[in-house]
Amino acid sequence: MNAPLQIAMPKEASASPKTYRLLIGGKHVEARDGRTIERRSPGHGFVVSRYAQAGAADVEAAVQAAHKAFQSGPWPRMKGSERAAVLLRTADLIESRLEDIARLDALESGKPIAQARGEIAGSVDIWRYAAALARTLHGESYANLGDAMLGVVVREPVGVVSIITPWNFPFLIVSQKLPFALAAGCTAVVKPSEMTSASTFLLGDLLLEAGLPEGAVNVLAGYGADVGAPMVAHPLVEMVSFTGSTRVGKLTMAAASDSLKKVSMELGGKNGQIVFPDADLEAAADAAVFGGFFNAGECCNAGSRLIVHKAVADDFLAAVRALTAKVRVGDPLDDATKVGAMISTDHLAKVASYVEAAAKDGAAIATGGAGLPSNAGQYLDPTIVAGVRPQMAIAREEVFGPVLSVLTFATPEEAMHIANDTPYGLSAGVWSGSIDTCMEIARGVRSGTVWVNTFMEGYPELPFGGYKQSGLGRELGKRAVEDYTEEKTIQFHRGRRTGWWVG
Ligand code: NAD
Repeated sequence: MNAPLQIAMPKEASASPKTYRLLIGGKHVEARDGRTIERRSPGHGFVVSRYAQAGAADVEAAVQAAHKAFQSGPWPRMKGSERAAVLLRTADLIESRLEDIARLDALESGKPIAQARGEIAGSVDIWRYAAALARTLHGESYANLGDAMLGVVVREPVGVVSIITPWNFPFLIVSQKLPFALAAGCTAVVKPSEMTSASTFLLGDLLLEAGLPEGAVNVLAGYGADVGAPMVAHPLVEMVSFTGSTRVGKLTMAAASDSLKKVSMELGGKNGQIVFPDADLEAAADAAVFGGFFNAGECCNAGSRLIVHKAVADDFLAAVRALTAKVRVGDPLDDATKVGAMISTDHLAKVASYVEAAAKDGAAIATGGAGLPSNAGQYLDPTIVAGVRPQMAIAREEVFGPVLSVLTFATPEEAMHIANDTPYGLSAGVWSGSIDTCMEIARGVRSGTVWVNTFMEGYPELPFGGYKQSGLGRELGKRAVEDYTEEKTIQFHRGRRTGWWVG
């Protein structure tokens, strides 16, 4: 048994928790009923933040503020170049506060600080990309409809957007939505997860500092039922952009259907990495460990299923185990940490129960499988479960922890069948030296992203989203702003209309 992890207490532990008020109509306000939410650092155990906890009356005020900013405020009426300037200034401000934002996310989510820095730098890049799209957004014209007709299709901002985000990438995910909504000219009400709201509040401040008009972005902390649900149901909200679990995504879509709102859904995943014997197995093993344990596996894109050809399965598993033993688990604020804390004790127990159930079903725990004792916080040992069969829960459901399930295959058809045999379709990876094999798998796998001889890379230029129950719509990419628009067809008629003269 290893010695307990020693987690050092950071300076924040001996200070009062940082407090955050709701951002409504450009003002920082307490919740109408005065309630608050406390967030403990999952890596350290002390209370790191205290947010005003919104309720229905605060949602009403925030939606009204966003509606007013949309109906009569300057934001939707500005030139694309002016909106781009605000987004670029925001990107610069985020960059200048990168360390602060990364620290907030690491403290509240338990993710490693070095990784958090990468996420914030990636977010800066996305804000800049969205700024470029604000200037290139355009419609279409049709001059081929006869001399008397000119058809013009314009893109207009959809209106007030409710943006609801999860806890696993607090700043990155809001950055995959909000800059594009703003680039289109929309206004927004944003609800981060009740566990990781701090960096979104800071973003709200940076937007105001960058010159965003009051009310164009409103930020509410709170729970799903009290805040998320009314943000979805509100009649003045025209679109819901949601990232979270498939279960809540379905509830959200059902609620949005009542008023036929536009929805964008980024949901769960159960992604497979398929490894063929002719691959660069050293690189594949490294990617398997990265895919399984990055962000403690609390990642929609986690490569939680390793689907390995039988001919190399034993050696490959040995290589993955050896690398896993080197993965540094511990204090999220330590620069060398690769796997930080689990988001909550409940979630840790849920992840561990999947491993126990698989072991009962005859799978073998090749390494890990238990909580790691520590003087503070909650940590789980990176775990490999071998001998997993496709019908086991651990092979089909989103475990959302540092747990790699190993399955084997004999033919490409079988590999593809296993990869596709879940309700999810977010992403997949294929490792092979043969272009034919890579292409066969890349074309055959039913998922929104396929990585070939790499894993879990992302670029603002490339659309991201899910097939099947992993979501609806795409984020990022050149059409990301269009998602936040409506198309309006305008027909200009020249001269007197010929047609249905009655009398
Ligand atoms: P979750 O579904 O529990 O919560 C997501 C958000 O929805 C939170 O802000 C929550 O407060 C809110 N919410 C809860 N109930 C609601 C309701 N009834 N109406 C409206 N909003 C409600 O998800 P989570 O546990 O925070 O995040 C983990 C999940 O997110 C995983 O399933 C993961 O795969 C998914 N995820 C997907 C992507 C993607 O891009 N596809 C990215 C990150 C996370």
